[in-house]
Order: sequence, then structure tokens, then C-alpha cells
Amino acid sequence: MDKLTPQQRHKAMASVHSKNTKPEMIVRKGLWKRGFRYRLNHKRLPGHPDLVLRKYRTCIFINGCYWHGHLVDSSTMESSECCKIPKTNREFWVAKIRRNKERDKEEQRKLAEMGWHCITVWECELKPSKREETLESLAFTLNHIWLQDHVAKSVPYPQLEEEDMQMPMAAEEK
Ligand SMILES: [Zn+2]
Repeated sequence: MDKLTPQQRHKAMASVHSKNTKPEMIVRKGLWKRGFRYRLNHKRLPGHPDLVLRKYRTCIFINGCYWHGHLVDSSTMESSECCKIPKTNREFWVAKIRRNKERDKEEQRKLAEMGWHCITVWECELKPSKREETLESLAFTLNHIWLQDHVAKSVPYPQLEEEDMQMPMAAEEK
């Protein structure tokens, strides 16, 4: 790092913070290992979801507990176990975190309107002690979503069977 110019250093630091952050990598590796495939940082979807699984019509957001105000009630804005709002400059941080929470909610509402499921994975759920459980439950949820979609689509089955029965069965014998 010592040989970098200030600009290069800034670029390197920025890339560390914007993508391939550790929590995101844990989720990516965990999903990949379980056979799920995804796209990254979908720029054209509201909120630029971290991962997009088209087959499951699902967007995954991997959120830092502090910036996204995990377990913070929007009306009281009291600190939570995950998100300790500093006492100094409290109003500033409250406004900032509240804005982030509102934006998250709004983006997920838009995605839902577009027919996407949204899953938020919180940083605290990826602590070593909780990680495997979180990834297992994420995989379970995705499979459940897939199944729901396909069960819903198979509802008009009896009609298809009727059509099949009207097809001339002996056509190949001619
Ligand atoms: Zn948390």
C-alpha cells in the first residue's frame, strides 16, 4: 500500500468498501456451494440488490446492522443490540439511519410490485456461530419460493389432461 498514490489508495479503499465486503462474500459462497446461481449488483433494479436470483424471482440484500438500523424501531429510533446510535450528534445519526431504513422499505416495496421476492440478510446473522444456520434457512426459503411458484402454475392441470385425452392416440400408426 505504501507505494500507491493518494488517488490509487482512495480507489483501493473504495473498492474494499463498495463490493466484495466480507458479509456479502459469505452469502455468495454459501449459496454457490448449495448450487444457487445469481447475478451481482443488478443496476437496473430498485435499490441495486446485492444478489439477484432470477429463477427464484428473488433479490437478496446483505445489510450492515448499523447503517440499515437493524432492530431499530422507526418511530422511537432507540438504539438496538445491533445498532448503537451515538449519543454525540444523535440527531444527525438518527436522521441518517431513519432515511436509510425508509429507503430500504421503499425499494423493497417497488421490487415487490414488480413481482420480486426480497430477502434481507443481516450482518449479525453471519457471525461464525450463526452463519451456517442462516445460510441453511436462506436455501430453505429459496426452495420454498420456487415450489410455491411452480405449485401455483400447475393449478390448471385437469384442463391439460382433458386436452390430452382428445388427442388422436393412434396417429403414429397410420
Ligand atoms: Zn443485526
